[in-house]
Amino acid sequence: MKLVLLGAPGAGKGTQAARIAEKYGITHISTGDIFRKNLKEGTPVGLKAKAYIDKGQLVPDEVTCEIVAERLKEADCRKGFMLDGFPRNVMQAEALDKMSDVDLVLNIAVELDKLMARLTGRRVCAKCGESYHVSTFAGGPCLKCGGEVIQRADDTEETVGKRLRVYTEQTQPLIEYYAAKGKLASVDGMKSIDEVFAEVVRVLDAIA
Ligand code: AMP
Repeated sequence: MKLVLLGAPGAGKGTQAARIAEKYGITHISTGDIFRKNLKEGTPVGLKAKAYIDKGQLVPDEVTCEIVAERLKEADCRKGFMLDGFPRNVMQAEALDKMSDVDLVLNIAVELDKLMARLTGRRVCAKCGESYHVSTFAGGPCLKCGGEVIQRADDTEETVGKRLRVYTEQTQPLIEYYAAKGKLASVDGMKSIDEVFAEVVRVLDAIA
């Protein structure tokens, strides 16, 4: 299964991706996670990406596309993969068309005006990436792995505002792009995590 997860920042792509990877055993590739890992390790890619991530902007297409192209060549992608956070604009989508023939693009649809609260209240485990929200998580170590739960540096109000604008201007047009190719399926991302996942499973089982 070659899958793309589409959705605004905070739509729940990472949360659903972790569940999909577990249930279907497919390789999860998050460009955001790759950039954050490079940043932590101080690699040249990480240093380049930092300026853009801090400003809520997209890392340049040539850097991002190169990383994805290389990642897709790895052995664990041979049976399939799930891209989370890529493509984010039409240029990246066209680059992906040349790299691989995607089976399905799953759009997690959310009301954009609800995302500011979701993202500024989001906390993530620095070790395993598990996601929490201050409205339901009282603090302390990660319930899954015991790692430190932190706020992402780009989940502040100012940067979230910019990321949502970038989404509307550059990423949202991909819904049309993939609908026109007959590859788009949408699920309602405003429901609970379990309900969204149940919908995702219905869609994926139908194509599996
Ligand atoms: P995410 O974790 O997907 O929200 O990504 C965090 C940040 O990493 C984004 O705000 C961008 O700065 C950068 N990023 C992640 N994926 C991409 C991409 N496909 N193209 C350009 N920048 C990206």
